[in-house]
Amino acid sequence: MFSLKIRKFLIIFLAGFAILIVSAWMEIPDDKFHIYFLDIAQGDSILIKTPQNHQILVDGGPKDYVLTELSKVMPFFDKSIDFVILTHPDSDHMDGILKVLERYEVKNILLTGVYLENESYNKLLSLVLEKNVKLFIAESKKDFIFGDVLVDVIYPFNQIIGNADKDKNDTSIAVKIVYKDKSILLTGDLSVEVEAKLISAYPNPKYLKSAILKAGHHGSKTSSSLNFLEVVNPETVVIQVGRKNFFGHPNKETLDNFSAAGVKKIYRTDMDGMVEFVF
Ligand SMILES: [Zn+2]
Repeated sequence: MFSLKIRKFLIIFLAGFAILIVSAWMEIPDDKFHIYFLDIAQGDSILIKTPQNHQILVDGGPKDYVLTELSKVMPFFDKSIDFVILTHPDSDHMDGILKVLERYEVKNILLTGVYLENESYNKLLSLVLEKNVKLFIAESKKDFIFGDVLVDVIYPFNQIIGNADKDKNDTSIAVKIVYKDKSILLTGDLSVEVEAKLISAYPNPKYLKSAILKAGHHGSKTSSSLNFLEVVNPETVVIQVGRKNFFGHPNKETLDNFSAAGVKKIYRTDMDGMVEFVF
């Protein structure tokens, strides 16, 4: 029969193969809706998997942390992403998108219309052109549907075209992700001023109401006014924030606003790591 060496080799080979099968199986589409708030340090990056297995990535976080996080939740054989949204071109949202454009086949991308005069943003635009990614400029009348999931663009109301002024945060694309009776609100780094504009623009209080809210601007006190939180009325808030971050996010006043607005559960990526919800 086989020599001891060959037997050892066969055992290791079969064990490796079994691990590969199990890990691929764990990430295989399961007809459910998944949303992952990725653990990418100080920044935003959120992946949505629809029951029909479309993948939607909102922001890419800083550096290339997103690649490791994606490899945990996407099957190793799947190298395409249906839709990428870059809420605004700050490095804590944009850097990872460059890496994703290089490594994955991105089919569609949604950008704000603001042009940023810097190397990273120019590289992003050239990758979009080079790789034939279908480009959309955000405006609230243009929404996107992937299987059972609606990506409802709620801000900006009209396309913002021109150079990014000093406050890019307030050009952030805000979307409401709707699946059956659940909705999740992602507002990038929009400030309390724009939150107030959203409340006036959508007077039907049911429209902004969402089960889950990603805290605006990493829990900074410049976002998440009590008024806005009362309208959105989320049960759960997720704060995407880096461990011991330099900005002191999340802010104490903001955390108090969440409690005052009756938020039942707060998750923080600095404490909880990657946060996943399945419906
Ligand atoms: Zn940010």
